[in-house]
Amino acid sequence: MALDREFAESLVNALGGAGWHTVLPDDPLPNPLDITFSTQTHTRRLIIYARKITPQSSAESDHGRPTGEMHVQMLFDGDQRGRGVRNHLRFETDAHTVLFGFYRLNDDYVVAAYDPIRHREYAYSKSLQVKQWKIEEAVKFGIAFQTRQTDEVVVIFHLDQILQYLDLASEFHNLTPDTLSDTAPDETLPPAVRRAFVPILDTDELPVLDVEEREQRVAETTRYIRNHQFRRGILSVYQRCAICGFQYDYILDAAHIVPVAEGGTDTYDNGLGLCPNCHRMFDKGLILVDRDCRIYINPRYAEEYDQMGLAGSLDTLQQTLRETLWLPEDEHFHPSVDNLRQTFEARR
Ligand SMILES: [Zn+2]
Repeated sequence: MALDREFAESLVNALGGAGWHTVLPDDPLPNPLDITFSTQTHTRRLIIYARKITPQSSAESDHGRPTGEMHVQMLFDGDQRGRGVRNHLRFETDAHTVLFGFYRLNDDYVVAAYDPIRHREYAYSKSLQVKQWKIEEAVKFGIAFQTRQTDEVVVIFHLDQILQYLDLASEFHNLTPDTLSDTAPDETLPPAVRRAFVPILDTDELPVLDVEEREQRVAETTRYIRNHQFRRGILSVYQRCAICGFQYDYILDAAHIVPVAEGGTDTYDNGLGLCPNCHRMFDKGLILVDRDCRIYINPRYAEEYDQMGLAGSLDTLQQTLRETLWLPEDEHFHPSVDNLRQTFEARR
């Protein structure tokens, strides 16, 4: 059951290209491979379960399975067979367990990543399916998602995109039509995400992207997933607009304090739940929030409006604003002083 050496070498090279280095042990490689990668300052330990993706045997497809199915057999070191015997994937607190099927294409690999949590217990030689056309989609597109009947989301990607997968694995595996329905209309979804829940299999229509375009597609997708995750998090803890206090349940925005374009992160300490008006005025710098969460109308605008004879409209606005931010009870979800200060300094 040794881990395929060529695949392991390609994986090590792919992470090496992104600055994460390691040295593979001698053959035979264990499966799972428990291995630590490091940069100059950080380490990252992976427990890698990986087996080759193969076509389903014709005998099996005669049993009513749709054609074009590929599969991966869960068969790893030390697994026990027998009726009622369950095998277990290994999870450690300081490690990231991954469950991969891999498919070789010339000198490249496509990986189908299964959700290890869902398969933590498995029967001997359990078979995990993946559709051939989803592999083709990932080959052309860089990344594809397949939702299985069990609601599991399988993420299929070029091995060179492995870091993006590792960084967002749990978000990817929790991508469901339900979690997406509260976001944007379909047209704004990145193509890979839009196609995740569309049961159309005409991969012939897909353009073949070059490496750079593929990377861009993946970046677009991961950006979307990150933002989606951020939005879901913020909306779950803000019951009202932090600036004006009105409760617009279903139209609250998840606003970034430091904009993403300026290095802002998709984390609670950089987020606020705001109504669309306050969001706009905050982003434009008309409304300022200082490090102590106090809310102001920007004096620069006050002068400008005064000169235009519109001071009255700012007075009206002022009356709708809270004095300080409305924040969730749990401090874990509060914005950080640093982020508030950075934006306050930049905009006042
Ligand atoms: Zn508001």
